[in-house]
Amino acid sequence: MKKVYCPNCYSEFENQTDICSCGYPFSGNDMDKYKFMSQRIKKLKTVKEGIESADYARFVLFIIGGINLLVSIIFLMSAQYTTIHIVTIIYSISLIGLGFLSFKEPFFSLLLGFIVLIIIYIVTGLIDPKLLMSGLIMKVIIISGFVYGLAKIKMAENVIKREQKK
Ligand SMILES: [Zn+2]
Repeated sequence: MKKVYCPNCYSEFENQTDICSCGYPFSGNDMDKYKFMSQRIKKLKTVKEGIESADYARFVLFIIGGINLLVSIIFLMSAQYTTIHIVTIIYSISLIGLGFLSFKEPFFSLLLGFIVLIIIYIVTGLIDPKLLMSGLIMKVIIISGFVYGLAKIKMAENVIKREQKK
């Protein structure tokens, strides 16, 4: 008896089967097989893009959190600090913490990090509109990058969830 291997998930079958548990259409024609495999590649690409987006968003949280934390600590040590520096320390630590949490819960943590960033921008804008305008292009790039990245992460999580149900 000739054993059959699934070219997609490498499952082993004793006999020729119609369809693999992963969905690979053994009994289908070449076009069915081609369609199935190209779907697989699309899904893998979606997952890969999700991972890359999470890496980018996490990096941004670490950088923004890290720089602000460092600057505030320097002010704190020089005893020239104000309430703003204390608040900055708190949100910087939250951003860094959410960055670490995103290794476990990417979408949820990075969405929270994104919300914290938006709140910071709004609050600084209310305190001093000039602060909001400084580095505005950078802020727009960060925010749009986050929105795009979060969408990619959600798509990847959906693909993974659907795969796990099978
Ligand atoms: Zn299979």
